[in-house]
Formats: sequence, C-alpha cells, structure tokens
Amino acid sequence: MNILVTGGAGYIGSHTVVELMNAGHNPIIADDLSNAHYSAVDRIGKITGKVPTFYKVNCACKAQLRHVFSQHKIDAVIHFAAFKAVGESVKKPLEYYRNNLDSTMTLLEVMEEFGCKKLVFSSSATVYGPNNPHPYKEEMPAIQSSSPYGWTKVMNERILTDYCTAHPDFSAVLLRYFNPIGAHESGLLGDDPNGIPNNLMPYIGRVAAGQLEKLTIFGGDYETPDGTCQRDYLHVVDLAVGHLKALEYAAEHNGVEAINLGTGNGISVLELVNAFQKVNGIKLPYVVGPRRDGDLPAFWADATKAKQLLGWEATHTVEDMCRSSWNFAKKGV
Ligand code: UDP
Repeated sequence: MNILVTGGAGYIGSHTVVELMNAGHNPIIADDLSNAHYSAVDRIGKITGKVPTFYKVNCACKAQLRHVFSQHKIDAVIHFAAFKAVGESVKKPLEYYRNNLDSTMTLLEVMEEFGCKKLVFSSSATVYGPNNPHPYKEEMPAIQSSSPYGWTKVMNERILTDYCTAHPDFSAVLLRYFNPIGAHESGLLGDDPNGIPNNLMPYIGRVAAGQLEKLTIFGGDYETPDGTCQRDYLHVVDLAVGHLKALEYAAEHNGVEAINLGTGNGISVLELVNAFQKVNGIKLPYVVGPRRDGDLPAFWADATKAKQLLGWEATHTVEDMCRSSWNFAKKGV
C-alpha cells in the first residue's frame, strides 16, 4: 500500500516508516522538518536499503497536501505531524491549537477530495486525564487533559469520531501511546530533541554522555512503592509495529476505534534509572528533587484491546529499551 506518513521524519514516525518498508509497503513522508531533520530520511535509507519518498510539507497547508495526493494514489494515512512539547504548549496555546487541529482538519478535507478513507492517528494516554483510575481502559472517559498539547489530542479524537459518524465508510484508529523510549537497533534513529530534553530517557542519555551534569528525579514522595512516579514505558519499535497492525485493521474495518499501545506494566523512574545503569554499566549522577507540576503519580495501560483487535503486544524488555537508548545517545557524543 502507498501510505502517507505525516511527521515521518520524527522519532516515532521514522521508526514506523522503517517497519512499513520492512513489511513491503511504500511510505511517503510529509514532514515540515519543524522538529525533525532530513538526515532521518537518509538514515531510513541506510537501514532499509531504499530512501523513502519525502515531501517538505506543512499538513495545515492544503495546497501542499493536495500536491502530494496528486502525485501518488494514497491508500491510507498515518498522521503523526504535531507539536508535542507539553511545557511549550502551556506557553503557546494558540500555536498548539492552530497547528495540531488545523493539520488534522486539512488532512481530512484533502483525504476526502482524493477518496482516501483510512487513517491511523497518533493519540496519547494524556486523553485519560487526571481522574481515571489505572490501568487505563479504552472505554473510560477520555475527555480531559492537563495541557494545551493534551487537549489537542482530546479534540482531535473528537473531530475524528464525529467525522466517522458522518462518513460511515471511513476508518480511523486512534492509537493512545503510553511512554515510548528506546531506539532503532542500528543506532541510526532515536529520540534526539532540540535543546534540553523534557522527557526522561533523552535526558538520561545526555547525562550518561556527559552533556548534562545530572538527572533530577521529579519527586520522591509519591504514594508509589519507591516514592517515584510510575509510567508504562514501551520500546519505540514495538510502537512502530503497532502502527502497522493498526493499518491492517483499518484496511478491513470502518468506524472509529481507540486503542492503547503500552506494555501494561508500570515502571518507576528509579527502576528505569537503575536498569539503565545496570545494563549499560554506567554510573548515572542523579538527585531527587521536587515534584514537577502536572505529573500524575502513576499510570499504565490495560493492553488487552490491542492484543484482541490488532494481535499486537509489546515484546521488548526494559533492558532492551535502556540498551538501545544508550546505543543511540552515545553516538551523539
Ligand atoms: N522525569 C524526571 N526527570 C526528568 C524528566 C522526567 O524525573 O528530567 C519523570 C517525570 O516526572 C515522569 C517520568 O519521568 O514521572 C516520565 O516523564 P516524561 O516527561 O518522560 O513523560 P510523561 O509521562 O510526563 O509524558
């Protein structure tokens, strides 16, 4: 299938493009490179033996998207392209709402124009908000979030749900990711944010590489077994494979379906730090500091639906995630 991958040069997008190519699909990347580098496209070529087709496209621009659709018969779309920094979204809410909502609506309009009816959407566990008990299940209310970024995921899910109601022959799979970490085994693709990382694993990588002095663990007094927050970390390659399965599902079903992609296990910050040190034989300087505003103490996925509907489950261990993260991060030294 010809698959348009918006945001395909980014962290999760690039790993997904590799898995699509390995499965014999023809991915077409549309990325405006606002938070990614073209080098990722070249690296996909090194891994797979073929450089994927690439368009520098802002998905909120109808003319640019139309051009891509006019050049290829697009069978399905995986929509990653979005701004994704939680803290930045609090400071720049309008930019987040404008970009993340416009791109989805424009994409839907162009898909409709060209008769494309299959979409996999990059959503997030943030849509479960602060009030649901964990493990999170898809049937729980997913109507609240704690940042403008998170709200754009809630709103995009709403838009896609309403669109599917109005177009019963359309298929949208809303993939709710938990905490993707890890990197491609080649060490060529990984999470490499601009500036000082906000997320835990890229921060750990920079500390391990000596680029940052120490990690601050945000809060050691939560009501969790070791006092630090628990999250459901999953390997980005497992996540990428989940998109492939979602695409196969979308090809055969109509309507909207929200599906968690997580391992179903909660891992604490301290457990992750210790696993990283052990598996890589590295001493990681850290201090336990105050809590970070907006962090929930603990959540993880109920991963049953992904297994039942998609035949997908995570296969990589925490050790795999720590090993591959370091294998990627150390190359940046
Ligand atoms: N965290 C931390 N220090 C950091 C970055 C993150 O202790 O420098 C913790 C954070 O409090 C949370 C976990 O790591 O408990 C995962 O945070 P991340 O930002 O990676 O993802 P989130 O779960 O917030 O989406």
